[in-house]
Amino acid sequence: MQSINLRKKFIIGNWKMHTTTADAARLAKAVVDGVGTEQQVVIAICPPFTYLALVGEILKGSYVSLGAQNLYPEKDGAFTGEISPTMLLDVGCRYVILGHSERRHILGESDAFINQKVLIALGASLNVILCVGETLDQRKTGQTETVLDRQLVQGLAGLSADNLPRLIVAYEPVWAIGSTGHHATPDQVQQAHTFIRRRFGDLFGEKAAQLLPIQYGGSVKPDNAAAFLSQPDVDGALLGGASLEADQFIAIVRAGISELKTEEKSTFPQSHNPNLERPQLNAP
Ligand code: PEP
Repeated sequence: MQSINLRKKFIIGNWKMHTTTADAARLAKAVVDGVGTEQQVVIAICPPFTYLALVGEILKGSYVSLGAQNLYPEKDGAFTGEISPTMLLDVGCRYVILGHSERRHILGESDAFINQKVLIALGASLNVILCVGETLDQRKTGQTETVLDRQLVQGLAGLSADNLPRLIVAYEPVWAIGSTGHHATPDQVQQAHTFIRRRFGDLFGEKAAQLLPIQYGGSVKPDNAAAFLSQPDVDGALLGGASLEADQFIAIVRAGISELKTEEKSTFPQSHNPNLERPQLNAP
């Protein structure tokens, strides 16, 4: 399936379990200042739950959106220690990361549980970043496509066409995340993204597949960002480590902008999803 230039670049930072109150405020302010009035690339940061409200205040009036790293698939109730989609919306979140490999592999989340989260998040009008990706063992034993297939089919079960415009898929090979010493090549990433887009097309139709933003995540840094972002099916980056340094984060945003210019993406008004794809100035 050939890609067409309908998709923006999404640069999203996952702060994981890092920062303190002071660090979070400093980092968020530096990102807002660095991004300035940039609107060509969609930008979001996902701090820990405890700093969402604080960071949300700092992002007001900027083009940087707020995201969360997880949620519990219920509106409210007796779920000690959990956070609902309603609570995320209440503090100004527009995005939520679901199915991150650290939640799959460290916290034992199943595809079925992730699917419940995806459905409730989309139902609550949050934009969802669904992470998929194989482990090193799975890649070495030739199971990459089987794993991606399972994570997509099960993770996206029951999605309606109305929900598709708020979905981003992030390809994150587990072996390339963090300081593992392993790096995916741009070719490997493009191959996986092509597979994801093709399978998404089988599930939801070719038009939806062409419009689906697919981010890459796995040790993306300022010095390799352009190589990934220039791949035809790479529509942005999900950043871990690099999102904790404002300079690195902004440098990758700039790489995304340069890539858009290179691709001469003059067809943006055709975007299927103004809510997801057009950066919004957060209400002050
Ligand atoms: C991640 O955990 O989603 C990630 C991409 O991390 P890093 O950029 O540090 O590899």
